[in-house]
Amino acid sequence: MKTPWQAELADSFTKPADLLTFLELNGIHRPELLQAADRFSFRVTRSYARRMNKRDPRDPLLLQVLPDAQELIDNPNFIIDPVGDLNAITAPGVLHKYQGRVLLIATGACAIHCRYCFRRNFPYDANLIGKRQEQDALDVIQGDRSIREVILSGGDPLVLNDERLGELIRKIAEIQHVGRLRIHTRLPIVLPNRITTQLVTALTGTRLRSVVVIHANHANEFDSEVKEALRALQTAGIMLLNQTVLLKGVNDDAEILVRLSETLFETGVLPYYLHLLDKAKGIGHFEKSLKDARAIYRVMRKTLPGYLLPKLVREEAGRPYKTPVG
Ligand SMILES: *Cc1c(COP(=O)(O)O)cnc(C)c1O
Ligand code: SF4
Repeated sequence: MKTPWQAELADSFTKPADLLTFLELNGIHRPELLQAADRFSFRVTRSYARRMNKRDPRDPLLLQVLPDAQELIDNPNFIIDPVGDLNAITAPGVLHKYQGRVLLIATGACAIHCRYCFRRNFPYDANLIGKRQEQDALDVIQGDRSIREVILSGGDPLVLNDERLGELIRKIAEIQHVGRLRIHTRLPIVLPNRITTQLVTALTGTRLRSVVVIHANHANEFDSEVKEALRALQTAGIMLLNQTVLLKGVNDDAEILVRLSETLFETGVLPYYLHLLDKAKGIGHFEKSLKDARAIYRVMRKTLPGYLLPKLVREEAGRPYKTPVG
């Protein structure tokens, strides 16, 4: 039997034409959309689609998910593995890039496919922690006492069911030198139904301190259901942070980003990172220059209290941390 959130996930839009019909935007459909969707499949939850403005082809939520013919243009600066993920793999599904923190690819699946995703070309098939790879991954963590934090990422780790997730978290908690559990997820935003009591229990049921880092790019992504889901996490004592990607046409404007920070705060979430786009193959049309990013950031810095200013960073392969560029 599917839980309500699993049923909602299964009912997502998987064809651009269906979403465009829902938004009364049939006129902007083009055959190239399907070619782009062949390279990275199309997927959007109905919950997220309901927050888009109808009949607006420039809607900032729609632009994050609608395939674009520009994805088919090859730009040599945009590559398969822009941030050196493949060099950081220490066991299947285990990425160890930064001191003290290890990132597990818990699944390759997501509830939504963001066109600008830096892992859209990631070879998930050979690199995720399924039941079979799990023990090896846990052994790697057990064997390295410098690891204090385990990050569950993907894909989106909250696509896993509560049983699987709970089991994985319990096993991580058995490793004494690990003190922090971090979840990188977009589900509180794109499928707020996912935040069930059982999930909150799985996240808080061990001695580990939990941090959930959500991913929102625009204040329009927050509706009452999203706020309620985030409140449930916050009430359970989970620390909430947000990361944003600076995206041309979506949020490349100081006023939009200030409003996002303020909305996050009202919802109990602190802004963490504002990422410059990672140069993954097929996403060049979302890029803003460093100069533009800095100009936007200067206005944000003037407008926001320090604790609502995300760190403007760029990830550079081989560096020991995400490079501050603000
Ligand atoms: C971004 C990232 C982290 C976390 O870095 P923080 O600066 O601690 O947020 C960890 N591992 C990998 C592979 C990452 O890409
Ligand atoms: S939710 Fe995250 S991992 Fe999934 S497609 Fe979007 S950016 Fe990529």
